[in-house]
Amino acid sequence: MIPKRAEVGSLLYEWNGTKEIQVEVGIRRGLPNFQILGCASSLTKESRDRIRLALEVSGFIFPLETIIINLKPAHIPKRMVCLDLAIAVGILEATEQIQIPEGPILFLGGLGLDGAVLGGQELLPYLWQNRNNQDVTLCLPKSLEKENLPEGRYYFLEHLDGLRIINQSVPQILEVSPLNSESQTWEKVFLDPFQMKTFQGLLYAILGKHHSILLGSPGSGKTMLHRMLESLLPLKETRDPNDQGIWTLGGDFEIPTKKRPFRSPHHSATEVGLVGGGLPFQPGEISKAYGGVLYLDEALEFKDRILESLRMPMEDSYLEIVRLNEKTKIKTDFTLMLSANPCPCGNYHSNNTCHCSLQKIRLYLQKISGAFLDRITIFQTLFETTNERCIQLEEYRMKKILLDRIIFRKTRKTPEDEESKIQRILDSENRTKLLSLRKKKQIISLARTIADWDLSSRTKEAHIREAVEYCIGYQWIYSLG
Ligand SMILES: [Zn+2]
Repeated sequence: MIPKRAEVGSLLYEWNGTKEIQVEVGIRRGLPNFQILGCASSLTKESRDRIRLALEVSGFIFPLETIIINLKPAHIPKRMVCLDLAIAVGILEATEQIQIPEGPILFLGGLGLDGAVLGGQELLPYLWQNRNNQDVTLCLPKSLEKENLPEGRYYFLEHLDGLRIINQSVPQILEVSPLNSESQTWEKVFLDPFQMKTFQGLLYAILGKHHSILLGSPGSGKTMLHRMLESLLPLKETRDPNDQGIWTLGGDFEIPTKKRPFRSPHHSATEVGLVGGGLPFQPGEISKAYGGVLYLDEALEFKDRILESLRMPMEDSYLEIVRLNEKTKIKTDFTLMLSANPCPCGNYHSNNTCHCSLQKIRLYLQKISGAFLDRITIFQTLFETTNERCIQLEEYRMKKILLDRIIFRKTRKTPEDEESKIQRILDSENRTKLLSLRKKKQIISLARTIADWDLSSRTKEAHIREAVEYCIGYQWIYSLG
């Protein structure tokens, strides 16, 4: 007696992406037995009873024979309940109770005891991660029909009953996936000269992907200036395979868009929330900010360890995650922007009276360690403001200005010996010769960005001078008292 056999595809969402898996079903004569093999967790084992009942309630015959389900590849742990549907389909196909359509087709969904096919938004990350795989048709719970799905061919099932006619139905074809690229817009704002100067610094940060920090009095417009950047960020041109913006199991799921992320976690965020961690691995704000900006408002209110944990990804563009015995490097790509009050009361250096002692202020600012500051390129302060908000900025114009510079930066050619020339200047000048190598590199890189902003293919002395101002701005902290 040859055992009956069927193989059904499904998807599994793992912390580092979606994987296609195969559900192999073998049925042979023997005592009634139902086993699931292939690194199935206890959660998947529970599905045995659920699948059996769901099949019976839907009027199918559950074979009273030895049923072996083999989940392949075996080394990946399977935690999710959404394999129910694929297992049920495999049993029905092996026992020739249904016929599934030709061609690769993946089944994804859980089952209710009444035979309903279950699943909702929690399945969206599976689909978006798998969307480059255009050849497969997906069979999904009906409830996903109205969700934002990637383009492809789909069957939607409300109930196991629907499997009886799946062979005669035609998959729905979704052609264009709507991209949600709405963002905060500001259209027009009026800035005073101090705010404008600060904003210029932030624009350099965006153009050259320089990390920046802004110390300023409450009400000086720190948050507003940063927020204005959100809608100016250029769209992503291509999809970067390292872009992990959609890594979210539960919680806030975000569909990948061309829009660059601007993440601004609250200062009560935990280290795991910011950097990522846990089992199964949950992506942190760093991963969600991939290709965009991670903005920490009230940066000194964050726990110290959090700022320190950003040091490695800031500089090396990767994050090392240690899980059980496994060490994994995750690529990161974000521009860090911080803003904070200059003292506990916030009024230091402003028109209002500050009641903090110098000792207290120093203690407060010590939260930003020297090692951390060393990785920040642009340091700015914004204490003075006037009511003469005479500079008008228009969003669409700023977008155009920034985009022109991004394109210029990509296509310009610079003199080969430029870097070494700037290096020599920095090595010889009193203000800069004692700076660390890292700082000097930052100055060279920022000077290049400023030159790009100026649409100049040569880095001029004025650009270097301006870059030095930003890069040694942090010394202000040490000059207190
Ligand atoms: Zn104060």
